[in-house]
Amino acid sequence: MSLFESPLFKDAFEQLEIAAATMDLDPNILDRLKYPKRALQVAVPIRLDDGTVKTFMGYRVQHNMTIGPGKGGIRYHPKVDLSETAALAMLMTFKCALVGLPLGGAKGGIQVDPNELSRQELQALTRRYATEINMIIGPNIDIPAPDIGTDGQTMAWFMDTYSQIKGYTVPGVVTGKPIGIGGSLGRAEATGKGVAYCVNFACKKLGRTVKGSTVAIHGFGKVGAPAAEDLGEQGALIVAISDVSGAIYNKDGLDVEACVEWVKNRNYLKDMKGDHKMISNDELLALDIDILIPAAIDGVVTKDNCHTVKAKIIAEGANGPLTIDAIEHLTKQGAFIIPDILCNAGGVIVSYFEWVQGLQNFFWDLDRINKTLHDILEESFEVVCEAADHYKVDMKKAAMIGALKRLEKAMRLRGLFPA
Ligand code: GLU
Repeated sequence: MSLFESPLFKDAFEQLEIAAATMDLDPNILDRLKYPKRALQVAVPIRLDDGTVKTFMGYRVQHNMTIGPGKGGIRYHPKVDLSETAALAMLMTFKCALVGLPLGGAKGGIQVDPNELSRQELQALTRRYATEINMIIGPNIDIPAPDIGTDGQTMAWFMDTYSQIKGYTVPGVVTGKPIGIGGSLGRAEATGKGVAYCVNFACKKLGRTVKGSTVAIHGFGKVGAPAAEDLGEQGALIVAISDVSGAIYNKDGLDVEACVEWVKNRNYLKDMKGDHKMISNDELLALDIDILIPAAIDGVVTKDNCHTVKAKIIAEGANGPLTIDAIEHLTKQGAFIIPDILCNAGGVIVSYFEWVQGLQNFFWDLDRINKTLHDILEESFEVVCEAADHYKVDMKKAAMIGALKRLEKAMRLRGLFPA
């Protein structure tokens, strides 16, 4: 697949062009932002437990590093390819710029279903991938983190492999590490917590309250579960959650803690017993609720099913869960959309805190982390609302404009090499 072919890349590209036209972005800057700075494709061969060798395709794409080192997760998923990784790297550039981090945008991944590999095979895969991309990453170059299909353990293997190559321990090469090897308090829940903060800001803006609001969460994983816990604690009614096996629904609210315990042991929701009924993922998206949080993967709400969505606030917990057509339709219907590069930025913000703490060898307490995360997101939310008012555009376009303003300034200051 060519670099520009995936639906996600086309969507990101279109978002960029629309925002650039609205804000009158310097065409020379726009031209440079259309292409990733660097893209590496690697073969990742490993020996499986049965003794045979299998080769997987891996990628690392660095989109733009004007403001700082590349930053972005590593995804293990069957859909991963060069084009999707490039789109996600581009979104990381805009995400980091919007929330004011001194970081650029990057993304990596391997085309694999991690559920089909044993722990030993996953370790081999991660170590070989880390070795193959080692020449373009580093604490001052490009810093990976978890994404779909990867976690703290993946980062620990990655960090260990990179450190073995260097001959000394380099905690700053990745973020999202377990606490015992330099991870940050609050990182595991940070994306979900950030989503919950953004839902609070949106409710306040619209004169609504989180308490008593009904919420459905598509994708009850690393992002959806902590968001549900947080909003549940604030008195929201989490009426539906889903995973790949389907969704569970109770109009009076689910027992979120019981659901968290259930999925923690890698159980499917469809097998869970309790005071709820099973519905399909499509039915979850169409529920008559106040807040919808698509927190699984991209392309979930499209022009084909957006007409069924009734939620008043839609918080993009995943990267690109709503297509551009869907966002346009839903905004016209009066829905308030919290765009991904703002809504799920909590993860990369606390990654940044982890990176800073690691470089200084000085660790913060959880209150400081959550307070700083809250303040950065609140300020960024304001930036997006102001751009939406100023340019009379929806929140999605406004977020992109906010990011482009900062990038434009930095790229102008640095100029083009050679002059
Ligand atoms: N994978 C997350 C994202 O899409 C986090 C990236 C990071 O922490 O670097 O934002």
